[in-house]
Amino acid sequence: MAKRPIEPFRIKAVEPISLLPEAQRRRIIKEVGFNVFRIRAEDVFIDLLTDSGTGSLSQFQQAGLMIGDESYAGSRNWFHFEQTVKEIFQKKFVLPCHQGRVAENILFSTILKKGDYVPNNTHFDTTRANTMHKGGIPVDFPCREADDERSDFPFKGNMDIDRLRAFIQKVGPDRVPVIIITVTNNSVGGLPVSMANIAAVRGVCDEFGIPLFFDAARYAENAYFIKRHESGYEDRTIMSIAQEMCGHADGIMMSAKKDGLANMGGFLAINDEKLLGRLQEMLILIEGFLTYGGLNGRDLEAIAIGLKEALCEDYLDYRVGQIRYFGEMLQQVGCPIVTPTGGHGIFADAGKLLPHIEPAHFPAQSMVVELYRRGGIRAVEIGSMMFGDKDPNTGKAVAPKRELVRMAVPRRMYTASHLEYVVDIVAEIVKDKDRLRGYRIVKEPAYLRHFTCELEEMAGYPAGAISG
Ligand SMILES: *Cc1c(COP(=O)(O)O)cnc(C)c1O
Repeated sequence: MAKRPIEPFRIKAVEPISLLPEAQRRRIIKEVGFNVFRIRAEDVFIDLLTDSGTGSLSQFQQAGLMIGDESYAGSRNWFHFEQTVKEIFQKKFVLPCHQGRVAENILFSTILKKGDYVPNNTHFDTTRANTMHKGGIPVDFPCREADDERSDFPFKGNMDIDRLRAFIQKVGPDRVPVIIITVTNNSVGGLPVSMANIAAVRGVCDEFGIPLFFDAARYAENAYFIKRHESGYEDRTIMSIAQEMCGHADGIMMSAKKDGLANMGGFLAINDEKLLGRLQEMLILIEGFLTYGGLNGRDLEAIAIGLKEALCEDYLDYRVGQIRYFGEMLQQVGCPIVTPTGGHGIFADAGKLLPHIEPAHFPAQSMVVELYRRGGIRAVEIGSMMFGDKDPNTGKAVAPKRELVRMAVPRRMYTASHLEYVVDIVAEIVKDKDRLRGYRIVKEPAYLRHFTCELEEMAGYPAGAISG
Protein backbone atom coordinates (compact mmCIF):
# COMPACT_ATOMS: atom_id res chain seq x y z
CA MET A 1 0.00 0.00 0.00
CA ALA A 2 1.37 3.38 -0.98
CA LYS A 3 1.87 5.92 1.72
CA ARG A 4 -0.74 8.65 1.87
CA PRO A 5 1.06 11.57 0.23
CA ILE A 6 1.10 14.73 2.31
CA GLU A 7 0.75 17.94 0.31
CA PRO A 8 4.01 19.91 0.72
CA PHE A 9 2.07 23.19 0.85
CA ARG A 10 -0.79 24.76 2.75
CA ILE A 11 -3.74 26.49 1.15
CA LYS A 12 -3.72 30.29 1.06
CA ALA A 13 -6.48 31.09 -1.43
CA VAL A 14 -9.52 28.88 -1.85
CA GLU A 15 -11.87 28.36 -4.76
CA PRO A 16 -15.21 26.91 -3.62
CA ILE A 17 -16.52 23.85 -5.46
CA SER A 18 -19.91 22.27 -4.96
CA LEU A 19 -21.64 19.04 -5.75
CA LEU A 20 -24.99 19.54 -7.48
CA PRO A 21 -27.87 17.28 -6.42
CA GLU A 22 -27.86 13.93 -8.22
CA ALA A 23 -31.13 14.57 -10.08
CA GLN A 24 -29.63 17.73 -11.55
CA ARG A 25 -26.43 15.94 -12.61
CA ARG A 26 -28.48 13.26 -14.35
CA ARG A 27 -30.45 15.93 -16.21
CA ILE A 28 -27.30 17.87 -17.21
CA ILE A 29 -25.39 14.90 -18.60
CA LYS A 30 -28.41 13.94 -20.70
CA GLU A 31 -28.83 17.51 -21.96
CA VAL A 32 -25.23 17.63 -23.23
CA GLY A 33 -25.64 14.40 -25.18
CA PHE A 34 -23.57 12.43 -22.65
CA ASN A 35 -20.44 14.32 -23.70
CA VAL A 36 -18.53 15.79 -20.73
CA PHE A 37 -16.69 18.34 -22.91
CA ARG A 38 -20.07 20.08 -23.23
CA ILE A 39 -20.71 20.44 -19.48
CA ARG A 40 -20.21 23.84 -17.80
CA ALA A 41 -17.12 23.59 -15.59
CA GLU A 42 -19.10 25.00 -12.65
CA ASP A 43 -21.39 21.99 -12.79
CA VAL A 44 -18.39 19.69 -12.14
CA PHE A 45 -17.30 18.83 -8.57
CA ILE A 46 -13.88 17.21 -9.16
CA ASP A 47 -12.46 17.99 -12.60
CA LEU A 48 -9.99 15.38 -13.85
CA LEU A 49 -10.47 16.15 -17.55
CA THR A 50 -6.83 17.21 -18.03
CA ASP A 51 -3.65 18.25 -16.23
CA SER A 52 -2.99 20.87 -18.91
CA GLY A 53 -3.09 24.47 -17.72
CA THR A 54 -5.35 23.52 -14.81
CA GLY A 55 -2.92 23.62 -11.87
CA SER A 56 -2.52 26.15 -9.06
CA LEU A 57 0.06 28.93 -9.04
CA SER A 58 2.37 29.24 -6.04
CA GLN A 59 2.62 32.40 -3.92
CA PHE A 60 5.89 33.15 -5.73
CA GLN A 61 4.21 32.93 -9.12
CA GLN A 62 1.33 35.10 -7.89
CA ALA A 63 3.87 37.65 -6.71
CA GLY A 64 5.56 37.35 -10.11
CA LEU A 65 2.32 38.38 -11.82
CA MET A 66 2.55 41.72 -10.02
CA ILE A 67 5.96 42.44 -11.51
CA GLY A 68 4.74 41.74 -15.03
CA ASP A 69 6.25 44.24 -17.46
CA GLU A 70 3.90 44.58 -20.40
CA SER A 71 6.32 46.42 -22.69
CA TYR A 72 5.96 45.34 -26.31
CA ALA A 73 9.67 44.62 -26.76
CA GLY A 74 12.36 43.60 -24.29
CA SER A 75 10.21 43.18 -21.16
CA ARG A 76 12.19 42.24 -18.04
CA ASN A 77 10.09 39.09 -17.66
CA TRP A 78 11.22 37.93 -21.07
CA PHE A 79 14.86 38.03 -19.95
CA HIS A 80 14.03 36.03 -16.83
CA PHE A 81 12.10 33.52 -18.95
CA GLU A 82 14.84 33.24 -21.57
CA GLN A 83 17.59 32.78 -18.99
CA THR A 84 15.60 30.09 -17.13
CA VAL A 85 14.81 28.14 -20.30
CA LYS A 86 18.45 28.29 -21.41
CA GLU A 87 19.65 27.06 -18.03
CA ILE A 88 17.31 24.07 -17.76
CA PHE A 89 17.00 23.09 -21.41
CA GLN A 90 20.59 23.84 -22.47
CA LYS A 91 19.77 25.61 -25.72
CA LYS A 92 21.15 28.82 -27.25
CA PHE A 93 17.95 30.32 -28.68
CA VAL A 94 14.46 30.56 -27.19
CA LEU A 95 11.21 31.43 -28.99
CA PRO A 96 8.21 32.02 -26.71
CA CYS A 97 4.72 31.05 -27.82
CA HIS A 98 1.31 30.73 -26.19
CA GLN A 99 0.91 26.93 -26.30
CA GLY A 100 2.90 23.82 -27.14
CA ARG A 101 1.05 23.24 -30.37
CA VAL A 102 2.29 26.58 -31.74
CA ALA A 103 5.88 25.42 -31.18
CA GLU A 104 4.96 22.34 -33.24
CA ASN A 105 3.35 24.43 -35.94
CA ILE A 106 6.32 26.81 -36.22
CA LEU A 107 8.89 24.00 -36.33
CA PHE A 108 7.01 21.73 -38.73
CA SER A 109 6.02 24.48 -41.15
CA THR A 110 9.73 25.32 -41.38
CA ILE A 111 11.40 21.91 -41.63
CA LEU A 112 8.83 19.45 -43.07
CA LYS A 113 8.32 18.69 -46.76
CA LYS A 114 5.35 16.78 -48.08
CA GLY A 115 5.90 13.04 -47.67
CA ASP A 116 8.58 13.37 -44.95
CA TYR A 117 8.44 10.91 -42.06
CA VAL A 118 8.52 11.99 -38.41
CA PRO A 119 9.41 9.19 -35.96
CA ASN A 120 8.39 9.57 -32.31
CA ASN A 121 8.22 7.20 -29.33
CA THR A 122 4.49 7.99 -29.50
CA HIS A 123 3.02 11.16 -30.98
CA PHE A 124 0.77 13.27 -28.80
CA ASP A 125 -2.44 14.10 -30.67
CA THR A 126 -1.63 17.75 -31.49
CA THR A 127 1.89 16.76 -32.62
CA ARG A 128 0.43 14.10 -34.88
CA ALA A 129 -2.17 16.51 -36.27
CA ASN A 130 0.40 19.28 -36.87
CA THR A 131 2.76 16.85 -38.65
CA MET A 132 -0.03 15.67 -40.94
CA HIS A 133 -1.24 19.21 -41.57
CA LYS A 134 2.20 20.09 -43.00
CA GLY A 135 2.18 17.00 -45.23
CA GLY A 136 4.36 14.88 -42.93
CA ILE A 137 3.72 11.27 -41.96
CA PRO A 138 3.89 10.57 -38.20
CA VAL A 139 5.29 7.15 -37.24
CA ASP A 140 5.39 5.74 -33.71
CA PHE A 141 8.03 3.41 -32.30
CA PRO A 142 6.99 2.65 -28.70
CA CYS A 143 9.10 0.02 -26.97
CA ARG A 144 7.78 -3.54 -26.81
CA GLU A 145 7.18 -3.41 -23.06
CA ALA A 146 4.65 -0.56 -23.56
CA ASP A 147 2.00 -3.05 -24.69
CA ASP A 148 2.80 -5.80 -22.22
CA GLU A 149 0.18 -5.54 -19.49
CA ARG A 150 2.06 -7.87 -17.15
CA SER A 151 5.36 -6.04 -17.39
CA ASP A 152 6.22 -3.60 -14.61
CA PHE A 153 9.16 -2.14 -16.56
CA PRO A 154 9.39 1.46 -15.29
CA PHE A 155 10.42 3.02 -18.64
CA LYS A 156 7.53 1.96 -20.84
CA GLY A 157 7.76 5.40 -22.48
CA ASN A 158 10.98 4.35 -24.27
CA MET A 159 11.49 4.30 -28.03
CA ASP A 160 12.15 0.99 -29.83
CA ILE A 161 15.68 1.65 -31.11
CA ASP A 162 15.90 -1.35 -33.46
CA ARG A 163 12.65 -0.56 -35.23
CA LEU A 164 13.61 3.12 -35.44
CA ARG A 165 16.95 2.33 -37.07
CA ALA A 166 15.46 -0.25 -39.44
CA PHE A 167 12.81 2.25 -40.49
CA ILE A 168 15.34 4.98 -41.30
CA GLN A 169 17.44 2.52 -43.28
CA LYS A 170 14.35 1.52 -45.24
CA VAL A 171 12.99 4.99 -46.15
CA GLY A 172 16.37 6.76 -46.20
CA PRO A 173 17.55 9.51 -43.81
CA ASP A 174 16.76 12.22 -46.41
CA ARG A 175 13.07 11.67 -45.80
CA VAL A 176 13.41 11.99 -42.00
CA PRO A 177 14.04 15.68 -41.14
CA VAL A 178 13.62 15.20 -37.37
CA ILE A 179 13.23 12.51 -34.70
CA ILE A 180 11.10 13.37 -31.66
CA ILE A 181 11.05 11.91 -28.15
CA THR A 182 7.98 12.71 -26.06
CA VAL A 183 8.90 12.99 -22.36
CA THR A 184 7.04 11.60 -20.53
CA ASN A 185 5.25 9.51 -23.13
CA ASN A 186 1.71 10.85 -22.71
CA SER A 187 -0.03 8.37 -24.98
CA VAL A 188 1.23 5.25 -23.16
CA GLY A 189 0.07 6.54 -19.76
CA GLY A 190 2.50 9.33 -18.89
CA LEU A 191 5.36 6.85 -18.53
CA PRO A 192 8.97 7.97 -18.63
CA VAL A 193 11.84 7.54 -21.09
CA SER A 194 15.14 6.42 -19.57
CA MET A 195 18.38 8.34 -19.97
CA ALA A 196 19.91 5.25 -21.61
CA ASN A 197 17.12 5.23 -24.19
CA ILE A 198 17.50 8.97 -24.85
CA ALA A 199 21.24 8.45 -25.38
CA ALA A 200 20.56 5.53 -27.73
CA VAL A 201 18.14 7.61 -29.83
CA ARG A 202 20.83 10.33 -29.91
CA GLY A 203 23.20 7.69 -31.25
CA VAL A 204 20.79 6.86 -34.10
CA CYS A 205 20.41 10.58 -34.87
CA ASP A 206 24.21 10.95 -35.07
CA GLU A 207 24.53 7.85 -37.23
CA PHE A 208 22.18 9.30 -39.85
CA GLY A 209 22.72 13.04 -39.34
CA ILE A 210 19.14 13.72 -38.19
CA PRO A 211 18.31 16.34 -35.51
CA LEU A 212 16.65 15.22 -32.27
CA PHE A 213 13.82 17.24 -30.69
CA PHE A 214 11.99 16.67 -27.42
CA ASP A 215 8.28 17.17 -26.95
CA ALA A 216 9.12 18.13 -23.38
CA ALA A 217 5.79 18.98 -21.67
CA ARG A 218 6.52 16.71 -18.67
CA TYR A 219 10.33 16.94 -18.57
CA ALA A 220 10.45 17.33 -14.76
CA GLU A 221 8.28 14.28 -14.08
CA ASN A 222 10.51 12.34 -16.51
CA ALA A 223 13.68 13.48 -14.71
CA TYR A 224 12.15 12.41 -11.39
CA PHE A 225 11.44 8.88 -12.68
CA ILE A 226 15.05 8.63 -13.90
CA LYS A 227 16.27 9.56 -10.43
CA ARG A 228 14.05 6.93 -8.81
CA HIS A 229 14.46 4.06 -11.26
CA GLU A 230 17.67 4.36 -13.28
CA SER A 231 20.90 3.31 -11.66
CA GLY A 232 23.56 5.96 -11.36
CA TYR A 233 21.05 8.79 -10.91
CA GLU A 234 19.97 8.17 -7.28
CA ASP A 235 22.09 10.99 -5.85
CA ARG A 236 21.74 13.52 -8.65
CA THR A 237 19.59 16.64 -8.43
CA ILE A 238 16.48 16.73 -10.61
CA MET A 239 17.88 19.88 -12.27
CA SER A 240 21.10 18.15 -13.29
CA ILE A 241 19.17 15.14 -14.66
CA ALA A 242 16.88 17.47 -16.66
CA GLN A 243 19.96 19.26 -18.02
CA GLU A 244 21.60 15.99 -19.01
CA MET A 245 18.39 14.79 -20.74
CA CYS A 246 18.04 18.04 -22.67
CA GLY A 247 21.73 18.11 -23.54
CA HIS A 248 21.07 15.15 -25.86
CA ALA A 249 18.49 17.12 -27.87
CA ASP A 250 19.04 19.68 -30.65
CA GLY A 251 15.76 21.34 -29.85
CA ILE A 252 12.81 21.46 -27.45
CA MET A 253 9.09 21.96 -28.04
CA MET A 254 7.37 22.78 -24.78
CA SER A 255 3.85 23.18 -23.48
CA ALA A 256 4.35 25.17 -20.27
CA LYS A 257 0.79 24.22 -19.26
CA LYS A 258 2.19 21.00 -17.78
CA ASP A 259 5.59 21.12 -16.08
CA GLY A 260 5.80 24.91 -16.54
CA LEU A 261 3.21 24.97 -13.72
CA ALA A 262 1.44 27.73 -15.62
CA ASN A 263 -2.07 28.16 -16.99
CA MET A 264 -0.91 29.12 -20.49
CA GLY A 265 2.35 29.24 -22.41
CA GLY A 266 5.01 27.37 -24.33
CA PHE A 267 8.24 27.75 -26.24
CA LEU A 268 10.57 26.38 -28.84
CA ALA A 269 14.28 26.25 -27.98
CA ILE A 270 17.07 25.38 -30.42
CA ASN A 271 20.83 25.44 -30.98
CA ASP A 272 20.96 25.69 -34.77
CA GLU A 273 21.53 29.31 -35.76
CA LYS A 274 20.79 28.56 -39.42
CA LEU A 275 17.25 27.53 -38.53
CA LEU A 276 16.62 30.50 -36.25
CA GLY A 277 15.75 33.17 -38.81
CA ARG A 278 13.01 31.16 -40.48
CA LEU A 279 11.48 30.16 -37.15
CA GLN A 280 11.53 33.78 -35.99
CA GLU A 281 9.73 34.94 -39.14
CA MET A 282 6.99 32.42 -38.54
CA LEU A 283 6.79 33.35 -34.84
CA ILE A 284 6.24 37.03 -35.65
CA LEU A 285 3.69 36.11 -38.29
CA ILE A 286 1.45 33.96 -36.10
CA GLU A 287 2.21 34.82 -32.43
CA GLY A 288 3.88 38.17 -31.92
CA PHE A 289 7.24 39.81 -31.39
CA LEU A 290 10.26 37.70 -30.42
CA THR A 291 10.24 38.74 -26.75
CA TYR A 292 6.60 37.92 -25.95
CA GLY A 293 5.28 35.42 -28.54
CA GLY A 294 1.59 35.71 -27.69
CA LEU A 295 2.14 35.85 -23.92
CA ASN A 296 1.71 38.62 -21.37
CA GLY A 297 4.79 39.77 -19.47
CA ARG A 298 3.18 38.46 -16.29
CA ASP A 299 2.69 35.02 -17.90
CA LEU A 300 6.37 34.88 -18.89
CA GLU A 301 7.24 35.58 -15.24
CA ALA A 302 4.90 32.89 -13.89
CA ILE A 303 6.40 30.35 -16.31
CA ALA A 304 9.99 31.29 -15.46
CA ILE A 305 9.22 30.65 -11.79
CA GLY A 306 7.09 27.56 -12.47
CA LEU A 307 9.74 25.81 -14.59
CA LYS A 308 12.05 25.85 -11.56
CA GLU A 309 9.39 24.93 -8.99
CA ALA A 310 8.58 21.86 -11.10
CA LEU A 311 12.14 20.63 -10.46
CA CYS A 312 11.81 20.67 -6.63
CA GLU A 313 12.15 17.17 -5.31
CA ASP A 314 9.60 17.45 -2.49
CA TYR A 315 7.02 18.69 -5.00
CA LEU A 316 7.78 15.77 -7.35
CA ASP A 317 7.72 13.24 -4.48
CA TYR A 318 4.23 14.46 -3.69
CA ARG A 319 3.13 14.71 -7.33
CA VAL A 320 4.21 11.24 -8.42
CA GLY A 321 3.34 9.79 -4.98
CA GLN A 322 -0.18 11.17 -5.29
CA ILE A 323 -0.71 9.45 -8.64
CA ARG A 324 0.69 6.16 -7.28
CA TYR A 325 -1.54 6.39 -4.20
CA PHE A 326 -4.60 7.11 -6.33
CA GLY A 327 -3.80 4.11 -8.58
CA GLU A 328 -3.27 1.70 -5.69
CA MET A 329 -6.53 2.73 -4.03
CA LEU A 330 -8.40 2.18 -7.30
CA GLN A 331 -6.93 -1.29 -7.68
CA GLN A 332 -7.95 -2.11 -4.11
CA VAL A 333 -11.60 -1.39 -4.89
CA GLY A 334 -11.39 -3.65 -7.95
CA CYS A 335 -10.87 -1.11 -10.72
CA PRO A 336 -8.36 -2.36 -13.33
CA ILE A 337 -5.80 0.30 -14.31
CA VAL A 338 -2.80 0.62 -16.60
CA THR A 339 0.42 -0.09 -14.66
CA PRO A 340 2.91 1.03 -13.61
CA THR A 341 1.36 4.42 -12.88
CA GLY A 342 2.93 7.42 -14.62
CA GLY A 343 3.30 11.08 -13.83
CA HIS A 344 0.05 12.83 -14.60
CA GLY A 345 -2.98 10.63 -14.12
CA ILE A 346 -4.58 7.22 -13.90
CA PHE A 347 -5.85 5.26 -16.86
CA ALA A 348 -8.72 2.95 -15.80
CA ASP A 349 -9.25 -0.06 -18.06
CA ALA A 350 -12.99 0.13 -18.77
CA GLY A 351 -12.72 -2.57 -21.43
CA LYS A 352 -11.78 -5.00 -18.66
CA LEU A 353 -14.22 -3.61 -16.11
CA LEU A 354 -17.20 -3.66 -18.50
CA PRO A 355 -16.68 -6.66 -20.81
CA HIS A 356 -20.45 -6.82 -21.40
CA ILE A 357 -20.28 -3.57 -23.43
CA GLU A 358 -18.66 -3.96 -26.84
CA PRO A 359 -16.03 -1.39 -27.93
CA ALA A 360 -18.48 -0.16 -30.59
CA HIS A 361 -20.78 0.92 -27.75
CA PHE A 362 -18.11 2.77 -25.80
CA PRO A 363 -17.54 1.05 -22.43
CA ALA A 364 -15.10 3.78 -21.35
CA GLN A 365 -17.60 6.53 -22.14
CA SER A 366 -20.20 4.61 -20.14
CA MET A 367 -17.87 4.80 -17.14
CA VAL A 368 -17.19 8.51 -17.78
CA VAL A 369 -20.95 9.23 -17.75
CA GLU A 370 -21.36 7.21 -14.55
CA LEU A 371 -18.55 9.11 -12.79
CA TYR A 372 -20.40 12.34 -13.45
CA ARG A 373 -23.83 11.01 -12.54
CA ARG A 374 -22.74 9.46 -9.28
CA GLY A 375 -20.01 11.83 -8.18
CA GLY A 376 -19.93 15.02 -10.27
CA ILE A 377 -16.49 13.84 -11.47
CA ARG A 378 -15.24 14.70 -14.95
CA ALA A 379 -12.83 12.28 -16.65
CA VAL A 380 -12.14 11.63 -20.34
CA GLU A 381 -12.64 8.65 -22.63
CA ILE A 382 -9.53 7.41 -24.43
CA GLY A 383 -10.88 4.58 -26.51
CA SER A 384 -13.17 3.96 -29.45
CA MET A 385 -14.97 7.28 -29.10
CA MET A 386 -11.72 9.27 -29.28
CA PHE A 387 -9.82 7.12 -31.78
CA GLY A 388 -12.55 5.26 -33.63
CA ASP A 389 -13.15 8.06 -36.19
CA LYS A 390 -12.94 7.00 -39.77
CA ASP A 391 -9.46 7.56 -41.21
CA PRO A 392 -9.98 10.42 -43.74
CA ASN A 393 -7.71 8.60 -46.25
CA THR A 394 -9.01 5.05 -46.01
CA GLY A 395 -12.57 5.66 -44.78
CA LYS A 396 -12.06 2.84 -42.27
CA ALA A 397 -12.38 3.05 -38.50
CA VAL A 398 -9.27 2.04 -36.58
CA ALA A 399 -9.87 0.09 -33.36
CA PRO A 400 -7.74 1.26 -30.42
CA LYS A 401 -5.98 -1.41 -28.35
CA ARG A 402 -7.73 -0.53 -25.10
CA GLU A 403 -10.85 1.21 -23.84
CA LEU A 404 -9.51 3.59 -21.20
CA VAL A 405 -10.83 6.30 -18.90
CA ARG A 406 -8.18 8.88 -18.08
CA MET A 407 -8.42 10.63 -14.74
CA ALA A 408 -5.74 13.32 -15.08
CA VAL A 409 -4.66 15.04 -11.88
CA PRO A 410 -4.12 18.85 -12.09
CA ARG A 411 -0.90 19.99 -10.38
CA ARG A 412 -1.09 21.25 -6.76
CA MET A 413 -4.89 21.43 -7.00
CA TYR A 414 -6.59 18.48 -5.31
CA THR A 415 -5.69 16.93 -1.97
CA ALA A 416 -5.52 13.25 -1.03
CA SER A 417 -9.07 13.47 0.33
CA HIS A 418 -10.41 14.65 -3.04
CA LEU A 419 -8.82 11.58 -4.64
CA GLU A 420 -10.22 9.31 -1.90
CA TYR A 421 -13.66 10.67 -2.73
CA VAL A 422 -13.14 9.74 -6.40
CA VAL A 423 -12.10 6.22 -5.31
CA ASP A 424 -15.32 5.89 -3.26
CA ILE A 425 -17.38 6.73 -6.33
CA VAL A 426 -15.41 4.30 -8.50
CA ALA A 427 -16.00 1.61 -5.84
CA GLU A 428 -19.77 2.14 -6.22
CA ILE A 429 -19.46 1.86 -9.99
CA VAL A 430 -17.45 -1.36 -9.67
CA LYS A 431 -20.21 -2.86 -7.48
CA ASP A 432 -22.93 -1.88 -9.96
CA LYS A 433 -20.90 -2.44 -13.12
CA ASP A 434 -23.30 -4.94 -14.70
CA ARG A 435 -25.95 -2.25 -14.80
CA LEU A 436 -23.96 0.18 -16.96
CA ARG A 437 -25.26 0.53 -20.49
CA GLY A 438 -23.77 1.02 -23.91
CA TYR A 439 -24.03 4.24 -25.95
CA ARG A 440 -24.38 5.13 -29.60
CA ILE A 441 -23.40 8.32 -31.41
CA VAL A 442 -26.32 10.34 -32.75
CA LYS A 443 -24.42 13.39 -34.05
CA GLU A 444 -20.73 13.73 -35.00
CA PRO A 445 -18.39 16.13 -36.82
CA ALA A 446 -15.90 15.03 -39.50
CA TYR A 447 -12.77 15.34 -37.31
CA LEU A 448 -11.86 14.92 -33.62
CA ARG A 449 -15.37 13.81 -32.82
CA HIS A 450 -14.89 13.18 -29.11
CA PHE A 451 -14.89 16.93 -28.39
CA THR A 452 -18.34 17.66 -29.75
CA CYS A 453 -20.26 14.50 -30.64
CA GLU A 454 -23.62 13.70 -29.01
CA LEU A 455 -24.61 10.27 -27.75
CA GLU A 456 -27.65 8.38 -26.60
CA GLU A 457 -27.85 5.69 -23.98
CA MET A 458 -28.97 2.38 -25.44
CA ALA A 459 -32.16 1.23 -23.73
CA GLY A 460 -32.11 -2.48 -23.08
CA TYR A 461 -28.43 -2.87 -24.07
CA PRO A 462 -27.01 -4.92 -22.66
CA ALA A 463 -30.04 -6.83 -21.39
CA GLY A 464 -30.72 -6.13 -17.72
CA ALA A 465 -28.76 -2.87 -17.54
CA ILE A 466 -30.97 -0.37 -15.77
CA SER A 467 -28.91 2.69 -14.94
CA GLY A 468 -30.24 5.85 -16.56
C1 LIG B 1 -0.19 19.25 -24.07
C2 LIG B 1 0.81 18.65 -24.97
C3 LIG B 1 1.11 19.22 -26.21
C4 LIG B 1 0.38 20.43 -26.74
O1 LIG B 1 0.50 21.52 -25.93
P1 LIG B 1 -0.63 22.66 -25.80
O2 LIG B 1 -0.04 23.61 -24.84
O3 LIG B 1 -1.89 21.99 -25.30
O4 LIG B 1 -0.82 23.23 -27.16
C5 LIG B 1 2.09 18.61 -26.97
N1 LIG B 1 2.71 17.51 -26.56
C6 LIG B 1 2.44 16.93 -25.38
C7 LIG B 1 3.19 15.70 -24.96
C8 LIG B 1 1.49 17.47 -24.54
O5 LIG B 1 1.19 16.87 -23.38
